[in-house]
Amino acid sequence: MDENRYTRLKALKDFGYEINWDDLKRKSVAIIGIGGLGTVSSEMVTRCGVGKLALFDFDTVEPVNLNRSMFKPKHIGKPKAEIAAKILNEINPDVKIYYFIKDIMDIDFEFTFEKELSKMDIILNGLDNISAREYLNSKCVKLRIPYIDAGASRSGLSGYIHPIIPFKTACAKCIKSIAINLPEERGEPCVASLPTTMAILASIQVQEMLKLLLKFGEMIDYVMYHMITGQFLHYNTKKDNNCPICGIRKKDGKRIKSKVTDKDIEDIIEKIE
Ligand SMILES: [Zn+2]
Repeated sequence: MDENRYTRLKALKDFGYEINWDDLKRKSVAIIGIGGLGTVSSEMVTRCGVGKLALFDFDTVEPVNLNRSMFKPKHIGKPKAEIAAKILNEINPDVKIYYFIKDIMDIDFEFTFEKELSKMDIILNGLDNISAREYLNSKCVKLRIPYIDAGASRSGLSGYIHPIIPFKTACAKCIKSIAINLPEERGEPCVASLPTTMAILASIQVQEMLKLLLKFGEMIDYVMYHMITGQFLHYNTKKDNNCPICGIRKKDGKRIKSKVTDKDIEDIIEKIE
């Protein structure tokens, strides 16, 4: 039997799951933010053999980023997305990798950003600030692209993973308005950063991506991970009908399914600013 880089991945089929691993070759994935999460998730996605991978990050590699995966001292000062694309291309040339050294919230980039996102089968969040994450959530809902949100706390000691299927499951904005007992500091820029916590969160993110794209297993709803206690806490979320992004609205007295508009996104950004 011919063995190749996918042999051990395809062997999963021998354990009772009807998976056609080659389906991944026809899938496009975008990773937004190539930091502690994105460096880990992008490598796993590349090794798994997706068809296309788009990377978005406007930052350059700094010495403080060297506690994490992928980057080396010689990359300091160079764009993260460009370096990541080069390294990932060497890891698996089967994957068509392209990148954008752009701030996703830059108004001049909005048209291209939406155009690129709309080509994707799934989006993985690797952003570390709340405004950009909310912006990305609203774009994924607007374009109806599945989105796997994830982020670490400022302490680097905990984090969350939250797969979102627009208009079907709770979006990232719904979570804010639902009274589930979540810590306040989620997905913010890290003061402390542990590569271990980041790798755990990114691994679960990619795991959920594989289940969604290859249609097997059960998706998680919302999981918090706390490294001090080692606990994974599972929360049940509920789509919020009053959510400004994915809720139900009334038009001429009738309830209509919401369709997020550019005006909604502008309002949200204004409130954040
Ligand atoms: Zn929502």
